[in-house]
Amino acid sequence: MNLKIGVIKGDGIGPEIVTEAMKVLDKVAEVYGHQIQYTQLLMGGASIDVHGVPLTEETIEKAKASDAVLMGSIGGDAKTSPWYQLEPSKRPEAGLLKIRKELRLFANLRPAVLYEELKEACPLKEEITQGGFDMMIMRELTGGLYFGARSTEEVDGLLTARDTLTYNEAEIRRIAKRGFEIAKKRRKKVTSVDKANVLDSSRLWRKIVEEVAKGYPEVTLEHMLVDNCAMQLVKDPRQFDVILTENMFGDILSDEASMVTGSIGMLASASLNESKFGLYEPSGGSAPDIAGKGIANPIATILSAAMMLRFSFDLDREADAVEAAVAKVLKAGYRTKDILSDGKVQVGTGEMGDRICSYIEK
Ligand code: NAD
Repeated sequence: MNLKIGVIKGDGIGPEIVTEAMKVLDKVAEVYGHQIQYTQLLMGGASIDVHGVPLTEETIEKAKASDAVLMGSIGGDAKTSPWYQLEPSKRPEAGLLKIRKELRLFANLRPAVLYEELKEACPLKEEITQGGFDMMIMRELTGGLYFGARSTEEVDGLLTARDTLTYNEAEIRRIAKRGFEIAKKRRKKVTSVDKANVLDSSRLWRKIVEEVAKGYPEVTLEHMLVDNCAMQLVKDPRQFDVILTENMFGDILSDEASMVTGSIGMLASASLNESKFGLYEPSGGSAPDIAGKGIANPIATILSAAMMLRFSFDLDREADAVEAAVAKVLKAGYRTKDILSDGKVQVGTGEMGDRICSYIEK
C-alpha cells in the first residue's frame, strides 16, 4: 500500500518524538511491504520562525492532499518564547485550532491504556486496576457548548453571562457512527455518556445514538450519565471499551481517564473527519523544559502512528504489531526517564524508538 503522510514535527520535543514515530512507521513499511511518502509541513512556532504566521495556506493544502497527518506538539514556553509576544491569533496554538477547523476534524479519540508494566504510575488502588485497562474516549470536537452562541450583558442591573449548548441530529449521527465503527474493531461495547435527565441536547443525543446502534447489532450499547461516568472511571475503569460523548463532557472525561493511566508520555490521540483522514498527535504538549535533551518519551507519538495505521489506512495487523512492540519493550524493562521506576533500564528517546523497531514483526 502507498501511504501519503503529512508530517508536522512541531516545536520543543516535537521533532525528537516524531522522528522516532517515523522510524517505527518505516520499519512497519519494510516488514509489511508498504511504501511511505512523507511531506514535511511547518506549523506552530516553527512556521512563525519562517513565515511569521503559525499556519500557512500551503501547509493546509498539503495536509489536505495527504491521507493522514502525523504531528508532534506545538508551542513553547509562554514566559520566555518570543512567539508569545505576538497577538493571540498569531501564536503557535492558533495554528492548531485553525488546522483542526480547516480539516473538519469532528471526532477526537483518546485511548487511555494502563499497561500492567506501568501500574505503579496509576494513582488508583491495585485491586481496581489489576490486569490493566484499555478504553477509548471518543469526543465530539466541533459542536456543543464551546461553539454555541454566548454573551455577557446586564440584565436587571446584574451582569449575566449565557452560553448555549446546541447539537443537531446530523452532528450526533456522524460521531455515533464513528464510535460504533471503532467499537467494532475493539471489544464491541459503547458507553454513551450524556446528561439526559436534565438536558434536551442530551435527550436528542441519546435518541440518535439508539437509532445508530440498530445498525450495529454486534455492538452492545449502554447509556451512562456524565456524573456517574466521572465516578465509574475511578471506581472501575476496566468496565469501559468505547466512551462516546459530546464536546465538553469528553474534554473533562478524557483528561480524567488519562490521569488514571498516570503518564503523559504514553498518551496517544487522533482527530478524524468524515473520510478516513485523521490528524494523529500525542496528547501532551511540546515540553520545552526537556526539549533537545534526548530524554522525551516517544511512545505517545508512536502509539498515535499506530492509530493512524488502524483508522486512516485500515492496517489493523500493522497497528497491532506496533502496539505489541511497545508492550514488549516495557515488559523487557526499558523506560524513558518520565516512566522510570526501580530496577528498570533508562533509555533515551532514540534508543526507545530503536528498541520498539526491533520488536516489530509479522
Ligand atoms: P506539556 O505537556 O508540554 O508538559 C507537561 C509536563 O509533562 C512537563 O514536565 C514535560 O516535561 C512532561 N512531558 C510532556 N510530554 C512528555 C514526553 N513525551 N516525555 C516526557 N515528558 C513529557 O505541557 P505544558 O508545559 O503545559 O505546555 C508546553 C507547551 O505545549 C505550551 O506551549 C502549550 O501551549 C503546548 N501544548 C501543546 C499541545 C499540542 O500541541 N496539542 C498540547 C498541550 C500543550
